[in-house]
Amino acid sequence: MVELLWNFVEILLEKLGFARAWIRWVMACISSVSYAVLLNSHSHGFIRPERGIRQGDPLSPFLYILCTEALVNVLNQSKTQGKLHGIKLSSSCPAVHHLLFADDSLRMCDATVSEREEIKSCLKLYGDASGQKIEIQEALGIMKEGSERTYLGLPECFKGSKKDLLNFIKEMLEGRLQGCILHGKELLKQGLYRDIGNGVQSNVWAENWIIDGIPRPPMYREDREVNLALEDSVSWGFTKNAPDNRVLPPLEKKLWNNIWKIKAPSKLKHFFWRSLSGVLAVKERLQTRGIQIDATCQSCGARAESISHVLFPCDKARQMWELANIPIPPAGFSVNSVFLNIFHLVGVMNNNSLEMNIRRAVPWVMWQIWKARNSLVFKNTSLSP
Ligand SMILES: [Zn+2]
Repeated sequence: MVELLWNFVEILLEKLGFARAWIRWVMACISSVSYAVLLNSHSHGFIRPERGIRQGDPLSPFLYILCTEALVNVLNQSKTQGKLHGIKLSSSCPAVHHLLFADDSLRMCDATVSEREEIKSCLKLYGDASGQKIEIQEALGIMKEGSERTYLGLPECFKGSKKDLLNFIKEMLEGRLQGCILHGKELLKQGLYRDIGNGVQSNVWAENWIIDGIPRPPMYREDREVNLALEDSVSWGFTKNAPDNRVLPPLEKKLWNNIWKIKAPSKLKHFFWRSLSGVLAVKERLQTRGIQIDATCQSCGARAESISHVLFPCDKARQMWELANIPIPPAGFSVNSVFLNIFHLVGVMNNNSLEMNIRRAVPWVMWQIWKARNSLVFKNTSLSP
């Protein structure tokens, strides 16, 4: 199918109910096209087409889709007249006699001579009117029956038990749902926090009650006060709009705000934000999203590649922090908490007793570590700290 006649396009757009002015614009676009031919690397001449639109014209794909409506309509008419039957997936559902996908079309009919002839005449009618050259023999030249392969995800041959044929849909759905439920359970486990009141109902050794992820003594004035008059309760930790901000302690809220105030280009602030939000595509994240990969850190091969690992305590990363003379937390970078690590670094950046160069280098070092990780993963080139 190569060509579409201009007058066919125009009449069809009119029949489809487009406004006259709009049709004029479209026709003006189509009929003002000119082509040049590349000959020995030089372009030659302006060829003005006089009849049809061609493949390659950016407007063409859309017009082709609209024009296919005419073919669909012809096929529908044959169906209404009882000349085509199509196939039904169950006795009560409508029959499907064609499927269109990009530039492929699939027609379904009873395996009889009369239905074959009907499809042939539909194609010829459409071809004659639109100017599209349809190779009828090719379109209907069925050399062999459908095999066990699939076409657009569906079995080519619909023979025998539909239950068996379509069972793969059920299996696929079950697999997906299982994945979702497991992911949901994991998320629930991570996101639920114990709100400590009088402490009676909580097991502080086993339950999630410290939002930073790592046990620590209260060390900031902003840490939340415990109200002993209240009973313990459970809150959801992954929301910023929790009732009266109960689950996002002041310290955490402050860090989220502070990352936008650091002195760095916005791409680096955004990078801080992405790290803190957990949206960097490290292997561990990809794995929890259901992508089947080995999550081992490619740089050290010792641990899973999480955001907190790859940017901070991983060997190469730690060397880069040290070489840049940026103070590391006394007990080392946290293995699990991006929050604690970034909290420390924002502290370094705001520490007036440190040299300006060192303070300003912090976001750049973190960015370079990430870039080095990417070139290792994507280009397999190892950059030296
Ligand atoms: Zn590592």
